[in-house]
Amino acid sequence: MKIAVVGVGYVGLVSGVCFSELGHQVVCVDKVAEKIERLQAGEAPIYELGLQPLIVDNLDQGRLSFTTNTADAVQGAELVIIAVGTPSLPNGQANLSYIEQAAVDIAESLSGYTVVVTKSTVPVGTNEKIREIIAARTREEFDVASVPEFLREGTAVMDTMNPDRIIIGTDSVRAADKLVQLHERLTANIVITDIRSAEMIKYASNAFLATKISFINEIANICEKVGADVTQVAHGMGFDKRIGSSFLKAGIGYGGSCFPKDTQALIQIAGQMDYDFKLLKSVVEVNRDQRFNVVRKLDLLLENMEDAVIGIWGLSFKPETDDVRDAPAVEIISALLERGVRVKAYDPVAADNFRKQFGKDGVEYCSEAADAARECDALCILTEWSEFQHISPAQIESWLKRPYLIDGRNIYTEEQLAETGLVYYSVGRPGMN
Ligand code: NAD
Repeated sequence: MKIAVVGVGYVGLVSGVCFSELGHQVVCVDKVAEKIERLQAGEAPIYELGLQPLIVDNLDQGRLSFTTNTADAVQGAELVIIAVGTPSLPNGQANLSYIEQAAVDIAESLSGYTVVVTKSTVPVGTNEKIREIIAARTREEFDVASVPEFLREGTAVMDTMNPDRIIIGTDSVRAADKLVQLHERLTANIVITDIRSAEMIKYASNAFLATKISFINEIANICEKVGADVTQVAHGMGFDKRIGSSFLKAGIGYGGSCFPKDTQALIQIAGQMDYDFKLLKSVVEVNRDQRFNVVRKLDLLLENMEDAVIGIWGLSFKPETDDVRDAPAVEIISALLERGVRVKAYDPVAADNFRKQFGKDGVEYCSEAADAARECDALCILTEWSEFQHISPAQIESWLKRPYLIDGRNIYTEEQLAETGLVYYSVGRPGMN
């Protein structure tokens, strides 16, 4: 099948590469020339496990190509996949300007019957808007479909090749047949819905997962007060099939380019229909506050913060990605800098992205974990990279000036800490403090 993918970010690139791996002929288009040049040279512009070799292999096989010219990509394509960004506007609504521009670009180059598929996360009604934009600009026959994306950064290739489900939202049998054919080499539950329901499934799924995270974080906060251990509580809860064990890990809350913006967007979608989504508003509020537990603990520990040097391990919003969009580290480090603290930071892959996007002075970026801990008054772990899990607390203690370790991701066990003199704070495990 001939496919064009518009927008070569985390979703568009991984989807395009995986569809070429499945044997389809894929052209990926992006407006950012530098990104396309790197991809044409076989270099992945993002850090994503297993992606690089697939790019090289499919470029070599001639099934995958990259361009900055939308017309070149779209002409002759049977399927055009929109995967551009839908970031938050200041009021929390999804910014649809990239989607609308992509629809205009696509409309001008359609040739023959085409299915225009939206993988971007878009508010209910957006695919109908896309249909209107295209219909006003072409006489070619086309259908629209919503096929929301559920991949997780860090395991994006694996998720795309082994999805839990594929949602196909369309009002056209012909489009549905094409989309079933597109995914036929994958073993996944295919759910065919109307367009609006497909758009809603994505928001409802992310809102539900965010709710689980804020729920367990509040349970963790209560555990700290009543002397229970949230890891044991979550373990015990997770055996109940109605609850499930995933997304019950207490910590400093969710971040990234999806949950924060999608929860805000769903609150706005509801609000526009005069529905006050009280539960989700609380989820967002709990999440926003949770990350500051790290700062509050430091405030208590270090009386004279102005002279303090604080080490930070982990800048990406989660492990195995270089994505720092809305990472807890952004607000935590900002709060520390406001207190006049010096910050030394280390991340295995995300430091460059963080430095570019954070743009504030006062952070020393270290090339090794040890350097970010050495001679610090306290060390804070903000991302649960496996590299950190392999460094013993005793080793950390030997690097620190004062023995304070704030573990925002609960990566260490009681046994690992037993032989140290560290003053240790984690999340919802008061027995280990
Ligand atoms: P991204 O910001 O990484 O990539 C978007 C790309 O689109 C950029 O490279 C940008 O240059 C390009 N672009 C914008 N307008 C264009 C146009 N008119 N023509 C060609 N290229 C254009 O975004 P992302 O993280 O891949 O997310 C894309 C969408 O998928 C969003 O709606 C997001 O909510 C959704 N989503 C993301 C994830 C994730 O984990 N990142 C998971 C599921 C769904």
